[in-house]
Amino acid sequence: MIGSSCAWFLKKHYGFDGSVLVIDRDLSYEWASTSHTNSCVRQQFSNELNVRISQFTAEFIKDFKTYMAPEPDVPELRIQNFGYLYLTDDPAKAQILKQLQVIQADLGAGTQILTPDEIAARYPFYNLEGIILGSLNTKDEGYFEGSTIFEWFRRSARHAGAEYIENEVTAIDRTGRKVNSVTLATGETIKAGTVINASGTRASKTAEMAGFDPLPVEPRLRYTYIIEAADPLDQDLPLTIDPTGIHYRTYGSHYMVGSPPEDDYPRAHDDFVMDHSYWENHVWPILATRIPAFERVKLINVWPGHYSYNTIDQNAIVGLHPDCDNFIFVNGFSGHGLQQSPAMGRGVAELILHGKYQSLDLSPLGVERIIENRPYLEMAVI
Ligand SMILES: Cc1cc2nc3c(=O)[nH]c(=O)nc-3n(C[C@H](O)[C@H](O)[C@H](O)COP(=O)(O)OP(=O)(O)OC[C@H]3O[C@@H](n4cnc5c(N)ncnc54)[C@H](O)[C@@H]3O)c2cc1C
Repeated sequence: MIGSSCAWFLKKHYGFDGSVLVIDRDLSYEWASTSHTNSCVRQQFSNELNVRISQFTAEFIKDFKTYMAPEPDVPELRIQNFGYLYLTDDPAKAQILKQLQVIQADLGAGTQILTPDEIAARYPFYNLEGIILGSLNTKDEGYFEGSTIFEWFRRSARHAGAEYIENEVTAIDRTGRKVNSVTLATGETIKAGTVINASGTRASKTAEMAGFDPLPVEPRLRYTYIIEAADPLDQDLPLTIDPTGIHYRTYGSHYMVGSPPEDDYPRAHDDFVMDHSYWENHVWPILATRIPAFERVKLINVWPGHYSYNTIDQNAIVGLHPDCDNFIFVNGFSGHGLQQSPAMGRGVAELILHGKYQSLDLSPLGVERIIENRPYLEMAVI
């Protein structure tokens, strides 16, 4: 998603007249994070820049046809605004949610703090025992068709001249401040004016190929479950962030539930092994306690996926390395990279074409903070 957004913004949106080559080791994307995503967008972030990034996402989704014009047959997209509802049973976290509501509201987000009674009046299906408050926003917050955007980024970038090949980058040649070329698994060497590292969970490996220090980005396993309820709710279920760390939401006529595994540690890049007992032993009991109507549910699909998890501050790492003039990082998105892809592609394209960000300053997300160990913390991480 991130690489294709960069290709699309460069070639199609900004009309870059150089060549753009997207190299992916697997063009079926079977194990890419993008294929396992839950595809939601939210305005409820703790730092201003992430809110602004998601504001652009909302604009991009709603104006998708205009952005893609004159491509024919582009579908109209919308955000299914069921909203995110953060529930907390912890007084310290309640205080933080209240502070974040002020930050978000100042930026124009529709976040509201709700008492348990207010939550119950709006969503009578929850068991709110122990809950102190909730934070809810139903404006530009919910599901969007990320897979459609991904498809159109690729299709339209190709129409504008970008080329896609299936191959693996195995080496990167750099002399001092300049990256010269990448080498592929099949042996070819490709000269490059600029190299963009959009390699998801393998971002650190790619950085090391170019002679940079490893990035604090590692694959972390996340489980997604799709369930059918014998007694469906008669209204949408917001994407509810349960105090236990699991989350659940409306998914068409079914429901989607997400959870980290019992032990959240870095996985091997190709390790997607799931503990299938975790649903029965941990996730479903929590869900059925919070929403008693979900006592009777049928598990109809499950899948494992990897976050490219930034262990320092769970935020994106974007921009040029200070020791190099033509190697750009777009990595470490943790659980919010799909929604950030439009702002990232736009920012990277601007950096290449103009030497600096023009639309939205992404420099607080720069590599420098990683090198200097200065976290740019995002507190609202799912
Ligand atoms: C369960 C789950 C739920 C999520 N929910 C959301 C959500 O609701 N909202 C949201 O905004 N985000 C969500 N995310 C996060 C989001 O999906 C990711 O941040 C985003 O898809 C990352 O895109 P990417 O292009 O950086 O990485 P990827 O999709 O992983 O793509 C990286 C690509 O790089 C290729 N590659 C790697 N190394 C090499 C190499 N050496 N040579 C060639 N190719 C290489 C890989 O083959 C891969 O295709 C979720 C993620 C998961 C796992």
